[in-house]
Amino acid sequence: MPKRVLVIAAHPDDETYGMGGTIAWHVRRGDNVTVLIMTDGVTARHTVTAPQEAAAVNACAILGVEHVRFARLADQRLDSLPLLDLIKPITAAVNELGAQIVYTHHRGDANQDHRAIFAATLVAIRPFGACPVEQAYSYEVASSTEWGAPFAETAFVPTHFVEITSTLEDKVRAAAAYSETYQSEVKPFPHPRSLEAVRIYAQQRGVSVGVPAAEAFVPIRQLVKEN
Ligand SMILES: [Zn+2]
Repeated sequence: MPKRVLVIAAHPDDETYGMGGTIAWHVRRGDNVTVLIMTDGVTARHTVTAPQEAAAVNACAILGVEHVRFARLADQRLDSLPLLDLIKPITAAVNELGAQIVYTHHRGDANQDHRAIFAATLVAIRPFGACPVEQAYSYEVASSTEWGAPFAETAFVPTHFVEITSTLEDKVRAAAAYSETYQSEVKPFPHPRSLEAVRIYAQQRGVSVGVPAAEAFVPIRQLVKEN
């Protein structure tokens, strides 16, 4: 049965660097995937937001996703907003889509927006009433998850892996779409956001579970229903 999938990203490009291969895999297996991007991703640095949104639409199209929603909150300032302002657009997306599988950020990321999104997601997917969410996972984002504070309680310890051997090149092409922004999000090697690093990270996660390429996730909740 096709599933309804919601991918929550703090910034345009997190969805691709974090789990572009898994997004493409969901689309290929017939799932209905929506990407919700919470901030403009750039206004901490400059005010030119349109190319970032256009790049996100292009990157998601490369991954096979037609539905991209923009909450348009301010980049790098989510920790100064009431959590409710983050919860509302996530709750609206979860309920309007009837999302069965939700992907969100990791609570230990270096980026404060990522941490705020994790906290808001936990509230938005509380399992009561008509909440449709059966599975929720945290994904990792290059140059944020591995740059988090080095403490056990914030470590990213994945136990859920999705093979992306056949979708890795889609992920690389989608990441390359983010070079078409006002200030390119694609950095030169050895930056974790270089295209070379996208392949290396995918291979590193892959070989750790015996496949050529993979993406890694930390399960937040997995409900197996009787029917
Ligand atoms: Zn981000």
